[in-house]
Order: sequence, then structure tokens, then C-alpha cells
Amino acid sequence: RTVYLNGDYIPEEEAQVSIFDRGFVMGDAVYEVTCVLDGKLTDFEGHMARLERSLRELQITCDISRDEWLAIHRKLLELNGLTLGGVYLQVSRGNAGDRDFHFPPAGTPPTVVLYTQEHPDMLDGPKVTKGVRVISVPDLRWHRRDIKTVQLLWASIAKMTAEQAGKDDAWFVEDGFVTEGSSNNCYIVKGDTIITRPLSNDILHGITRASLLKILAERQMKVEERPFTIEDAQGADEAFYTSASSFVMPIVEVDGVTLGDGMPGPVAQRLREIYIDEARKHAI
Ligand code: PMP
Repeated sequence: RTVYLNGDYIPEEEAQVSIFDRGFVMGDAVYEVTCVLDGKLTDFEGHMARLERSLRELQITCDISRDEWLAIHRKLLELNGLTLGGVYLQVSRGNAGDRDFHFPPAGTPPTVVLYTQEHPDMLDGPKVTKGVRVISVPDLRWHRRDIKTVQLLWASIAKMTAEQAGKDDAWFVEDGFVTEGSSNNCYIVKGDTIITRPLSNDILHGITRASLLKILAERQMKVEERPFTIEDAQGADEAFYTSASSFVMPIVEVDGVTLGDGMPGPVAQRLREIYIDEARKHAI
């Protein structure tokens, strides 16, 4: 695989970063993942807008323009012949020169890394056909979940906890309400209404969520942005989650309780089709 590191396109084995890089020492880095369909980037502008916001919120300086980001993404797709998968992008505050809690001096260049990942079963894997089973775990992450940092340890532990319980993924719960999934935004369906938690610093502002809500509004479908509980989800007709790498993913079980007939629900399946169609149409 050819990867991008600080201006160079090089084989992954040659891509090396300092042990003093703050991304490594302090988790001081942000990231983005953009989905690739038919060799094209989906929701690209949204991902770049969120990247710029994450960088701004953490005062990480990175002077790569949107046009340059697009050129780097496209070049990596071309060099790696990627048609179905994603491009992973990470920007850290760079090399502090030594371990120090304080930020390095202004002008210290950030470390910029991009690479491609193939996801051959993204469109039709077993999760899509069977639906996913989730368990709940307490949300023990920090309180700026709106910033997409690489501090993914709790998400990683949550996914391992789910796997060890024989399930597929975890939902985070705080103050009695579901915040979001370990790497996705969550929804429940009651009758003809789709319910999802409103945006705040408690959750990541999903780019797929934003695109889906736009699609729902265009079709005059009923949406309620309000927090919901595990019990609400267990009593719902359907549930699903969204993320760039999973689009719309049906959920069939929540903490051991089967939803409906235990198969992916019609609303989730229909929204998945519409979402993928729209993503394809607008991919660049
Ligand atoms: N929430 C969390 C915690 C995530 O990690 C992700 C995926 N990175 C999402 C939501 C979904 O965001 P997006 O639709 O932009 O992929």
C-alpha cells in the first residue's frame, strides 16, 4: 500500500513517525474517515468541514486547503486502485521534541497521515443481511465527543466487551439515555417516526447522520431529535445506526431483547438503499 506522510507518497513500511509525536504520546490528534464507492469519495465536503472544526477546537494548525485535501485523497485512491472502502486521515499536533504537557511552539508542523483501506463487504456483508446485536455499556469517554480525536480507547474496550459477550457492537449510555454507538450514531423507529439524539458535545456530529436527516427532510419523513433510553429501544419497531463505513445498519437486538421478528426492519433497509443511492449520486 502507498500511504501519505507529510507531503510524500511512500510505501507503508517506510512511513515513520517520531516516538515524541503528540499523537502517540498524548492522543493529541484528530481524524476523519471518508467512504469510497465506485472509486469516488462520498460526503467529502462534510468530512472536511468537520476536520477543520476539530482542528480549530483543539487549536491544531494545519494549512492544507480543501482542494489540497481532495487532491491527496484522489491521488491515494489512484495509487492504490481503491474502489470500495475508505480513506483514513489523521492530523496530530506534531513532534514536541520532548515529552511536555504544554503545546509545542507555534510553527511546529503537524503530522499528517492518510491511507486507504479496502472494505470488500461494505455493501453486502453478513451484518447487513442479518442485522447487528448490541449491548449497552456506560459512556466513560471525555465530554468533548463532538471533536473527532484519536482517543478511541473506550470505544475499543466497548467493542471488545460486546465481542466477548458474543454480540456485534456496543451502545453508550449516560444519565439513563443512549448517547451513541461505539463508532456510530443511533436511531430507533416507532411507527412512522425516526428518533435520534440531538447534537451537542455529548456525541460526534456524524456526517452520515447529517446526510440521512437531509434525505428524511426532503421526503417529509417524521424525525424527532430527542434522547431515548435502552427501554425505548427495546420497545421500538426497529433500530439502526449510521456511520461513513456502514451507511445505515439495521439493529435487531438490544441488551438481549429481540426487536420485531429479529430480522432487519423495512424502514432501516429502505433508508440504507436510499442513502447508498444518494451517496453514489453525489460522490466526487
Ligand atoms: N459516533 C462515533 C463515536 C463515531 O466514531 C462515528 C464514526 N467515526 C460516528 C458517530 C459516525 O460518524 P460518521 O457518520 O461521520 O462516520
